[in-house]
Amino acid sequence: MRDAEILVVGLGGMGSAALYHLARRGVAALGIEQFQIGHALGSSHGFSRIYRNFYDDALYVELAEAALPLWQELEALSAQKLLHLTGLLYFARPGNDNIEERMGVMQALKRPYERLTAQEVTARFPALQLPARSVACLTPQAGFLDAGRCVLAQLKQAERFGATIHDQVRVDSVDLSRDAPVVETSAGQYRCERLIISPGPWASEILEELALPLRVTRQQKFYFRPKQSAPYQPGELPVYGDSDTKFYGFPDYGPGLKVADDGLGAEYAPSEVDRTLDMCKRDELQAWLESIMPAGGFSYVEGSTCMYTVTPDRDFLMGPHPRNPNVIVGAGFSGHGFKFSTLVGKILADLAADGTTDYPVERFRLDRFEKAQA
Ligand SMILES: Cc1cc2nc3c(=O)[nH]c(=O)nc-3n(C[C@H](O)[C@H](O)[C@H](O)COP(=O)(O)OP(=O)(O)OC[C@H]3O[C@@H](n4cnc5c(N)ncnc54)[C@H](O)[C@@H]3O)c2cc1C
Repeated sequence: MRDAEILVVGLGGMGSAALYHLARRGVAALGIEQFQIGHALGSSHGFSRIYRNFYDDALYVELAEAALPLWQELEALSAQKLLHLTGLLYFARPGNDNIEERMGVMQALKRPYERLTAQEVTARFPALQLPARSVACLTPQAGFLDAGRCVLAQLKQAERFGATIHDQVRVDSVDLSRDAPVVETSAGQYRCERLIISPGPWASEILEELALPLRVTRQQKFYFRPKQSAPYQPGELPVYGDSDTKFYGFPDYGPGLKVADDGLGAEYAPSEVDRTLDMCKRDELQAWLESIMPAGGFSYVEGSTCMYTVTPDRDFLMGPHPRNPNVIVGAGFSGHGFKFSTLVGKILADLAADGTTDYPVERFRLDRFEKAQA
């Protein structure tokens, strides 16, 4: 039996951030992870996740901006670059409402953005040749986070501030019937005063009794190397997204230019996700990349599988367990959570340590679907 003031279950993007923020507050915190630290079996591995404040929803604009100083603080503490502010270029064919809605939100909130034509995009970023008559929007408060490094940096800082990490320990069940939760694991029983559960795609398993309406989908990302790297480097090229196809990509970083499809893939149980790469999807993404960067001369490098954990409204699940206020849950980040993860960790830490947070989290209540079903 082991004891901690606050126990964190699941050390991906969200759990590593929670452990880091708890430790910084001086809380005696312990984090448990089922796999080896640095694993690539959840949702937070790899070289890049988009950071952006370009949302069609003011709440997410506000939260993305609140996360920015926390990322910068983590960079300073860990003395490494984690966030590359390259800007985001989002584009669409004429008549696409979504890009107009997002620009409307930027305008209403007085956030900087530029509307560009395809010709103006090429003048600014010579590698990019968008379809003629495209509408494009460039937002400066955007870029990408080195996801794998962010997770490791948070865990390292958490340990530095006194947290304990037990990896390769699987939580099998949580007894919520007592005020102080008891956790049964592959390495025995853990007791704590309060518990944070941040299990990513495994949320429906560990929180089975809540019958959360979560879908776990298989998402794949592929890397392509250009013939010449210089025009595709961060700074020369922004992060880019196509509102019509939902395909998006990054500058040349890590093994190459990462390209992926934000459309939802097939549903799986998280431990049974098919990790065989879909080469038809690869070809589709390569064709798209070549269509917008025709001089790239791209060759395929590698691909990998990741999972989205999607709620019906694509809003997060973040708050106290409906039946035990000493258990705080962060889950269902619906394919767009990483940019917020250091802030999510701070919020989970606030809720676990203080029972409250200054951030606007009411919309993320866990019982909102119970209410909808009632
Ligand atoms: C291909 C892809 C691209 C994405 N792109 C973006 C993007 O550009 N921008 C963005 O903001 N977001 C993006 N996301 C979403 C973002 O990556 C996720 O929202 C975020 O990483 C989720 O983090 P998490 O901590 O909830 O889950 P995870 O990272 O999966 O962490 C959960 C952890 O809990 C552990 N765990 C689970 N159950 C147990 C148990 N029983 N016992 C012990 N440990 C357990 C798991 O092993 C895992 O390590 C993308 C996601 C994918 C898949």
